[in-house]
Amino acid sequence: MHYRSIAPGALATASLLLAVPAFAATYTPGAQGIGDPYYPAYGNGGYDVSHYDLRLKYQPATDELEGTATLRARTTQDLSQFDLDFLLNVSEVRVNGVEAAFTNSGEHELVITPKTGLAKGTDITVVVRYSGIPSSKKAYGFTTWLRTADGAVAANEPESAWWWFPSNDHPLDKATYDVSVRVPEGTQAISNGRLRSTRSAGGWSTYCWRSDKPQATYLATLAVGRFDITTGKSESGIPVINAYSKNLGDRDAAARASVERTGEIADWLSGYFGPYPYDALGGYVPDVPTGFALETQTRPFYSPRQFASGPNPSVVVHELAHQWYGDDVSVKGWKDIWISEGFARYAQWLWSEHEGQGTTQELADKVYASHPADDAFWTVAPGNPGPDNQFDIAVYDRGALAIQALRNEIGDDAFFTVLKGWPQKHAYGNASLADFQRYAEKVSGKDLGPLFDTWLLEPAKPAGPAAARMSSLPAEPKSWKQIEATNEMHKH
Ligand SMILES: [Zn+2]
Repeated sequence: MHYRSIAPGALATASLLLAVPAFAATYTPGAQGIGDPYYPAYGNGGYDVSHYDLRLKYQPATDELEGTATLRARTTQDLSQFDLDFLLNVSEVRVNGVEAAFTNSGEHELVITPKTGLAKGTDITVVVRYSGIPSSKKAYGFTTWLRTADGAVAANEPESAWWWFPSNDHPLDKATYDVSVRVPEGTQAISNGRLRSTRSAGGWSTYCWRSDKPQATYLATLAVGRFDITTGKSESGIPVINAYSKNLGDRDAAARASVERTGEIADWLSGYFGPYPYDALGGYVPDVPTGFALETQTRPFYSPRQFASGPNPSVVVHELAHQWYGDDVSVKGWKDIWISEGFARYAQWLWSEHEGQGTTQELADKVYASHPADDAFWTVAPGNPGPDNQFDIAVYDRGALAIQALRNEIGDDAFFTVLKGWPQKHAYGNASLADFQRYAEKVSGKDLGPLFDTWLLEPAKPAGPAAARMSSLPAEPKSWKQIEATNEMHKH
């Protein structure tokens, strides 16, 4: 079954000798991309990771990161070679305990050649030792590693992992994580999931975090800095850990007045989306100059700028809604971004209605009326926006408008059944826009093809009877400006 099973003694007969070349030819390199047309080189082929064990040491003063990553994976073809996506300097790679050859290729490929071929369907253990200064590394001319006055942050979409751990970097390959980080004493390290332990010795502190439900690579996060960490529990019993940079200045109070509502908001969302899918909750606000927020699993990242003009629970609603829509049920390919962003934006509309600041229909009317038919807004199809428009405002606003159109078409009973049933149907997995349409059709018993085409796929403003429910000149809902203020959400 393996190269290594062909011991010299086994080659004694002519028939076996003849069989060798054909046998060897079945072992081929894994693809350098997982097959996403938006990002052909992202992710890799030939294996599926089940667990990442990351042991890291980070020095804020110099931005030096040292690490050992141990990946547990299963091969999906007879592999002679495979890639990980990674930018730092690798000193050693071992596959199943045996030293392997490695080299760099393309923008972010670490190409690994094990001493012997790896048969399809076998579990493998890959150990990568590495070090480097993440801020000095670029791919495609950019870095998403964010340095702060007292540390650094890895949080971005879709590219974030390359700067801190080797991975199969695509949402299709989810895995569990243990992340242990050594930082100078007095500094904290934040990541996803539960904080299993902290200990200090010899001037260094170690933080051990665990995510024991499948997590996409872009949803794994790391923040090192001087944080004030708060702990609590939601009313439903989920432990909450939040972290605030000690350098937030006049944004500190508004950040806390928003993010400390995490447990309350997650419980409220579970009324619409079903049980919260994880055993940990929280959020963190590092001292970064960026403006966006990100749904990093169990513990969203918030830029301080989201709280520059006061408390902003709407952004917390958005990022927590992603824990069901985007994190629990992730995209199959990046073209499916609507199944993530459309619903996170719609959750903000539901919150507006809950707060008495404008109903979802009023917000839909406002979006519809705000963009005349010749506005470029309508040329972006949220159902397949293209990589350049993946985070265009149309994916959010037209995306949520489409969800209101769906609600009007199938009625509240079927609509809320879909909203709550979907995360259960694809729990901890991946799904596409087509999967969502099929599911909504099954629940409602209606053919929704024309509705999905009109609202999500046509590069034009829906008109005529399709838009009859969107009134023409609505008053501006009270929540409108606050929701608009979160539009910077995912910009690079
Ligand atoms: Zn979002």
